[in-house]
Amino acid sequence: MENAQNMIELNHLRKVYRMGDEKIVALDDITLNFEKEKIYCLAGKSGSGKSTLLNMMAGLEKPSKGNILFNGQRFDQLSENKLARFRQKYIGFVFQSYNLLPTLTALENVTLPLIFRAVPKKMRDRKAMEMLTAVGLADRWRHKPGEMSGGQQQRVSIARAFINNPQVVFADEPTGNLDTKTTAEMMDLITGLARRDRQTLIIVTHNLDLADYADYLVQIQDGSIENMASRHSNLVYQPGMAAAEGEKI
Ligand code: ADP
Ligand code: MG
Repeated sequence: MENAQNMIELNHLRKVYRMGDEKIVALDDITLNFEKEKIYCLAGKSGSGKSTLLNMMAGLEKPSKGNILFNGQRFDQLSENKLARFRQKYIGFVFQSYNLLPTLTALENVTLPLIFRAVPKKMRDRKAMEMLTAVGLADRWRHKPGEMSGGQQQRVSIARAFINNPQVVFADEPTGNLDTKTTAEMMDLITGLARRDRQTLIIVTHNLDLADYADYLVQIQDGSIENMASRHSNLVYQPGMAAAEGEKI
């Protein structure tokens, strides 16, 4: 059960979507732990449940069954308001399609999470410039998303995800729309920031090559975890393995 080294604990998580008469089991009885300060790559085919799992760990969707413990806090014990504030404080999210507001400048987009937390403007702008500098875009702070390349827009969205110094950053196919060279740059950047600030980072991808950047590779198939292995392919978890055994490493 609860373990101080764990950032996220998933207990018998299940998600069923209903489409008319049809029942889609997106996640089927997932029990798994994610450790603090580690980088995870969550890989699986399209439709395997990656986004559903990520959204659920980020508190954006509710499980049909089971529960999520985020740094010891059960999501289902928080009110909607508290959950929203909890997310703003502890969670950063990077999307495949960047999700920047088109009418705002790079700087304004990066400051958004601080506005929600009522940080004074001067401090917001200073922090946002620091983040834009960290992602190599200090000279583009006035640019709007439409005036930047895909890679630059993803850099802005990474700056936005990290600006609150969240405990966990989730990234859902962050390089899905980018070429190979930009993908490598983006992976270096996002994993570098997470290592520097000792955050937990969970990256969803269908590109297994990206597992090289992670401490652990988690493979998901048809809503079930196939296995979790360390960078050197040592198996850490497989369904049916005793819980205690899976927690040792
Ligand atoms: P992935 O991100 O791995 O491609 P998803 O988590 O998006 O997979 O989807 C897992 C399964 O759940 C798929 O079969 C998908 O069609 C279904 N699904 C996801 N979201 C919804 C939804 N809002 N309503 C109905 N079915 C959904
Ligand atoms: Mg997806």
